[in-house]
Amino acid sequence: TLQLLKTFSTMPPIAKSSHYDYLVIGGGSGGLASARRAGSYGFKVGIIESSGRLGGTCVNVGCVPKKVMFNTASVAEALHDAQQYGFDLTSIPQFNWNLLKQKRDAYIKRLNSIYVNNLVKDNVEYIEGKASFISKNVLRVERDGQVEEIEAKKILIATGGRPRLPSEIPGFELGITSDGFFDLEEQPKKVLVVGTGYIGVELAGIFNTLGTNTSLLSRSDEILRTFDPIIKDTLLEQSKKEGIRVLTHAKVKSLSRDSPSGPIKVSLTSKETNDTVEEFDTLLWAIGRDPNVDLNLDVTGVKLNNKGYIISDEYQNTTAEEIYALGDVCGVAQLTPGRRLSDRLFGPPKFKESKLDYNNIPTVVFHGTCGTVGLTEPEARKKFGDENVKTYTSKFVNLYNAMTEQKPATAYKLVVVGEEEKVVGVHLLGRDSAEILQGFSVAVKMGATKADFDNTVAIHPTAGEELVTMK
Ligand code: FAD
Ligand code: NDP
Repeated sequence: TLQLLKTFSTMPPIAKSSHYDYLVIGGGSGGLASARRAGSYGFKVGIIESSGRLGGTCVNVGCVPKKVMFNTASVAEALHDAQQYGFDLTSIPQFNWNLLKQKRDAYIKRLNSIYVNNLVKDNVEYIEGKASFISKNVLRVERDGQVEEIEAKKILIATGGRPRLPSEIPGFELGITSDGFFDLEEQPKKVLVVGTGYIGVELAGIFNTLGTNTSLLSRSDEILRTFDPIIKDTLLEQSKKEGIRVLTHAKVKSLSRDSPSGPIKVSLTSKETNDTVEEFDTLLWAIGRDPNVDLNLDVTGVKLNNKGYIISDEYQNTTAEEIYALGDVCGVAQLTPGRRLSDRLFGPPKFKESKLDYNNIPTVVFHGTCGTVGLTEPEARKKFGDENVKTYTSKFVNLYNAMTEQKPATAYKLVVVGEEEKVVGVHLLGRDSAEILQGFSVAVKMGATKADFDNTVAIHPTAGEELVTMK
């Protein structure tokens, strides 16, 4: 033990100081944004990160590498379509998953170091270690067995979440999660994706387009259950046509494997298969995410809701004074309102009321592609009453697909309310919807009416023009 202590005493300290104005736990999108904004106002700020790399879920195992894989799938699709556009491709080039993975990993590494440099620019200290509370304003930070206590006037919890695992299912640990998806060195030949939310639908789409035999397991008979019917119903049909096998009213009962490198035997039941045992190279759990709240919160007065998320209000206040929380650990909207909080806490008086408006947050599922902002039709009918809600829909084949064999449906819906026909929901499925939605979400946020949409000159020929010419 003495030898160990001696080693520790020669180790560099974990943190440069013992007192800070603002300490942020978690170096993901939310924590980084808030820490940097506070640092830019000249306060003494530290950000504590336990994983050894900055950027959190989005950069390391979320949006960014996922979008790279979505783009890869889009290239595969374009190669396929190229022949139908008159290009003489005698054989479609083979895809090398491992090569792409190496390039993707290198890109993420570059981003990690850019984040370190950005902290330096805004005078934020990067503290590597795992944090937990000792008291309301004192944190314990641990790294490689070394422990330090640091204090701050204000503390932000931005610890995000992690993939949920169904520990009640025998053999569940043989499956991977979205984190494991990004570790795959080779492309699996046959996968079962369990869960039909954002992650299940996106990753099943990527696997399928890249040529993996893909099954998608839904515990109901829907996918993307919370989306507007025009999106979820059309996408379900479309996904089946593209070759994804959708198992409905389905349940995994157990997983087993005869040898470490052998296939996974999955015992499952579904409407399509009844009780069966089927072999897969990979099973991927995409059944939701749990918040990272293993922080000894009992000593702080920070309370959790019944789903285990930190309770925070629209100003990101928790139930404890001078402790704030934002991002996935709050579970309200899985997004990153970090700068608003630091503007309010550390910025000039004009930002005293700064907060994020959780209404009309646009969001996209990168399969299809689906884009949505505002209320779904069922939500609008519930809120405003059937008599006050009207919808405009349009289904068509994108001009791009005029030359291709596959004719995926493009489906758009506007949900409007009242005599003035205020647009309260825009729902898009089809090519480029992710890009089209951003501008239309500005219009919805500004309170645009259907007449405002119609008064806008259509850009022709585009898919988006359909939204300003709907009858
Ligand atoms: P995180 O980014 O999770 O950051 C939390 C950080 O805290 C982590 O780095 C963690 O290591 C650290 N931490 C945890 N506990 C401690 C501790 N005790 N001490 C120190 N550090 C700690 N969103 C989109 O908007 N678009 C997308 O396309 C999209 N795609 C996604 C794809 C996937 C596969 C996944 C999983 C998510 C995706 N998301 C997407 C969601 C998005 O990634 C998250 O909403 C976002 O990253 C949340 O940011 P955060 O700062 O709250 O948490
Ligand atoms: P979601 O909450 O979106 O979906 C979870 C899915 O798992 C649902 O389909 C749910 O079914 C299903 N499910 C839950 N438990 C079981 C079970 N025991 N067996 C079978 N199915 C089950 O979670 P995700 O993991 O997909 O994503 C987490 C969050 O990450 C998202 O909510 C989103 O905010 C964020 N994200 C955002 C992305 C984006 O912006 N493009 C991309 C990826 C993630 P049911 O529908 O019946 O409830």
